[in-house]
Amino acid sequence: MKFDQARWTDGSDDRYEPLLSEKGNREVEVESDLPDELTRDTLELPDVSEPEVARHYTRLSEMNYGVESGPFPLGSCTMKYNPKFTEDLAAHPKAGIHPDRPESTAQGTLQVMYELQEYLGDIGGMDAVTLQPPAGAAGEFTGIHIARAYHEANGDARSEVVIPDSAHGTNFATAAMAGYDVVSLPSNDDGRVDLEALEAALTEETAALMLTNPNTLGLFERDIGEIAEMVHDVGGLLYYDGANLNALLGRARPGDMGFDIMHYNVHKTFATPHGGGGPGAGPVGVVADLREFLPDPHVEKTPEGYQFYTPERSIGKVHGHYGNWLVLLKAHAYIARLGDSGLEDASAKAVLNANYLAEQVEYEVPFGPFHHEFVASAGEQDAADVAKRMLDYGVHPPTTKWPEIVPEALMTEPTEVESKRTLDQLAAAFNAARRDDTETLEAAPERTAARRIDQASAARNPRLSWQALGDE
Ligand SMILES: *Cc1c(COP(=O)(O)O)cnc(C)c1O
Repeated sequence: MKFDQARWTDGSDDRYEPLLSEKGNREVEVESDLPDELTRDTLELPDVSEPEVARHYTRLSEMNYGVESGPFPLGSCTMKYNPKFTEDLAAHPKAGIHPDRPESTAQGTLQVMYELQEYLGDIGGMDAVTLQPPAGAAGEFTGIHIARAYHEANGDARSEVVIPDSAHGTNFATAAMAGYDVVSLPSNDDGRVDLEALEAALTEETAALMLTNPNTLGLFERDIGEIAEMVHDVGGLLYYDGANLNALLGRARPGDMGFDIMHYNVHKTFATPHGGGGPGAGPVGVVADLREFLPDPHVEKTPEGYQFYTPERSIGKVHGHYGNWLVLLKAHAYIARLGDSGLEDASAKAVLNANYLAEQVEYEVPFGPFHHEFVASAGEQDAADVAKRMLDYGVHPPTTKWPEIVPEALMTEPTEVESKRTLDQLAAAFNAARRDDTETLEAAPERTAARRIDQASAARNPRLSWQALGDE
């Protein structure tokens, strides 16, 4: 597979496609009814025609890599292709309504919210679901606050949250931000929860155990029944990180495994593109005992129609109005279109694809068999170099260097949307990188619009506007 990314420049080597404002500006007179002191008489706007604008953005997109350019197997991220019909629905002129509209005039919107609460409850085996949190991490924060409220309401305030060492970083951050001491749990030799270590970690201070299953190595926690019993025996709650639900859809439910609280990432599992920091949604499900602590408002169905209500001992609001409504609308449409059999099919293919690809790559794959993702080891090679080199082969690399229990980890989640042909292309890219020498790896990427960038500076000193660029 040969790949060369487009590279549009302004003629020099180190400047890309010029900004629109650099193509020439024009003073435009503006009229407005607003008070004079708040307005300008003229605005300086780019002097460009429609085709120039269209080409500008097309060129920028050609210098980028996205899920519509090729496979995007970032593990623990579920970068699946999201169908266009859900985008069309969200863009429908009648889809967006003012959040202050009276309930009686927004019955259709409330119905969709209510049905989505029910769908997600069914999928996760939870008794009640709030749609309000705007992301997975926000869902965790909401869920852990519900756990706190529950314990405090029972006069049983607790101080610790137990989290396996392989967990997503947001779990640790959530527990710490909610004011808990984090107790980190080591994994056993086969990459799962170590029951003896768990026994030692659980005390009367344990508010919750946060767990994801299949875990971040893509392995199912076979002892989940026993784990749930142990946590409940000390009066703790079991929290399920349901960010990546692809492996379970239609097959197994966290509620049936003994989990009390969970969040869903609809922007990983249910049709909203994930990445780029765009809006998402992290609904939270709870068992019946925790229903009264859910955020305010919640949608209920009454004989008079759908309405909002405030749960009795609500932890309050966790987001403006009702959450990221258009993202929720897409999730509803996706679940309704796939139905039970479509969701089951998605999980079957997600698992099959991960296991097929794990078989094809020549890197060492220490654990398995897997569910939705697998973790290979780059061994003597630097996983970050391998990632950069894979871009040269026309595919997006996997997540690297995490989880840390696998040295130089290449954490790979192909998702259910990829065909065998694409999986073979991915495997070829892995295997070509494996055969490349260190010099080639360190020089990669060569065939992309941008060469290797200084990631540390990009993260520490971001310049996020064209004005900052002008200051140079
Ligand atoms: C992505 C992810 C999260 C966090 O979700 P955000 O929407 O990015 O905040 C939490 N846990 C796991 C396992 C994840 O993969």
